[in-house]
Parts: sequence; C-alpha cells; structure tokens
Amino acid sequence: MTEPQWNLEPKFDFVDKHRVATNKKCSLAKIDTETNGPFEGKDHGRAFTHQAVIDIRDLQYKMFTEGKQSLLVVLQAPDAAGKDGLIRKVLGQMNPQGCRTYPFKVPSAEEAAHDFLWRVHKCTPAAGKVSIFNRSHYEDVLVVRVEDLVPKSEWQERYEIINGFEKLLAHRGTQILKFYLHISPEEQLERFKKRLDEPTKHWKLNAGDYEARDKWPQYREAYEDVFEKCNASYAPWHVIPADKKWYRDASVAAIVRQTLQEMNPQLPSIDADLDEIRRLYEREAAELAAKKN
Ligand code: AMP
Ligand code: MG
Repeated sequence: MTEPQWNLEPKFDFVDKHRVATNKKCSLAKIDTETNGPFEGKDHGRAFTHQAVIDIRDLQYKMFTEGKQSLLVVLQAPDAAGKDGLIRKVLGQMNPQGCRTYPFKVPSAEEAAHDFLWRVHKCTPAAGKVSIFNRSHYEDVLVVRVEDLVPKSEWQERYEIINGFEKLLAHRGTQILKFYLHISPEEQLERFKKRLDEPTKHWKLNAGDYEARDKWPQYREAYEDVFEKCNASYAPWHVIPADKKWYRDASVAAIVRQTLQEMNPQLPSIDADLDEIRRLYEREAAELAAKKN
C-alpha cells in the first residue's frame, strides 16, 4: 500500500492564527481548545510535524554554526496539557549539542533566597544555542499569585521586571517564543484518568493537581493578565489548542520553524583557503593510493 500524499505546505498562517493580539485583553474562554487547523486529521498533522522537525534541525544547525543569535522557548500550561510530550516529540528533537531543556519546579531554599529571576537567567541560551523552559519565570506571576505565595504588591511589580528581563535577552540576540498549551478541564480530567490507569505515569500524580482544578478561573485570569502585560514583539505569546496532541505538536513545530526561518541564520563564511586545502587532500590521497599499489 502506498502512503497517502499529504499536503505538507498548507496555506495557513500558524503564527497569525495563534499569536496573542497585542494591546487587547485576551479571553481564553473564547479560544477553542480543539481544532484540526488546515489538516485533514491526525495522520496529516503527524506527517506535517515530521517534516517541520527536519527543517527545524537544519535551521538550528545553521544557527549553531553562525554563533550569533539564540532561541528561548517558554512553555506554560495547566497540568497534563502536554509540555512533556511536546518536548519529547518536537522541541527535544533538536541537536542536544546546541539545545537544552530546563524544568522549573518549586524553588529550592537557595533559589527562594534570591530574586525570582536568579535561577532563570543562568538558563537562558548562549549565542548559537536553544533553551527550552518547561515552566518558567511566569510561575512567579501565576502559581505565586493564585496561591497567594507573596503579597500582591510584590507580584504586581513583576510584569514590568519580566518585560525588562526579556528585553535584555532580545537585546543580546535572543528570540523568545512563548506558548500556552490550552486544554479544556474535561480533557485534563481524561488525562488524569489515563495517568491513574498507567503505572509508569503514577510518578506524575499529585493531589495538588486537583486543587489547581478548583482554581481554574483564577489561573485563567492570571494567564490573561500575563498575555496582556508581557507580550512584546520580541517575546510573543501563542495560545495553542492542545486537546489534540497531534495538533499541539504540529502548530508549535510550524511556529518554531517559521521563527527560525525569519531569523535567517547563515553558515559562517570560510576563512580557510579551500584551493590550498583541496591540494593538500589530493597530495595525501595520491600518496595513499601509491602505497596501496
Ligand atoms: P511539574 O511541572 O508538574 O513537575 O510541577 C512543578 C510545580 O512547581 C508546579 O506545581 C509549579 O506550579 C511549581 N512551581 C514552579 N515554579 C514555581 C515558583 N516560582 N513558585 C512556586 N511554585 C512553582
Ligand atoms: Mg505536574
């Protein structure tokens, strides 16, 4: 049986579709958690992602050799929305020599004894490299706000501090891409059930996840404030419909690929004298051939 010929270049602007509009309040309730986008279905979406990942790797290779620009991908989401799966299937497919994932958990005692960006700044990508943040500095205006971990007067100041921080990174040549994986509470519960049914996923279970479900509206509000206050052109937010895992992967892959294409990384120019190196090679090859005869 021959494989179906999917259109891997559908006319569909993923960035335009999922980019959070600036200067306007974003209402998550009005954004679908489920879509097929331009795809006929799962197999089509998966074929698209496969090609996009190959292209991303090529572009990342160029960025690595160029050694000037860098990329920071920030992932935020409710539990079980698929950050881990997205990293495994798409972002983590980049060459590990130039790419690293950093998970941000409840701060350690040492981290908590510093300013909230201290642990984050040292994980930002060096020139030529990619950093993936599995959660991020945004937790400090999300969980911290909803769970009342610091006074309002303190977290309120953080939006501006985050904007300044991201501007600093952009100033150094880092492109920042931020993704919110948007799932419905129904889909989340379904995934919690799958975790219960699957012993290898039991380590992910956490009673706190159910408390966070009770605070869904508060988290939604906190996210909407983030999208409104921290959405500069050099560090845009995207809301990704994530109820379908294959669409989540395809759309993020499309946006990362497009961004890297726009960054337009170039292989470095050659200082070495290629004619001379070719002559050296030919001399060596001729000597070897002579020895063999
Ligand atoms: P997970 O990503 O599911 O392994 O869980 C990590 C947990 O750490 C989540 O519940 C986050 O909300 C929490 N977390 C991450 N950063 C912070 C922070 N700055 N303050 C408090 N909790 C945090
Ligand atoms: Mg969790």
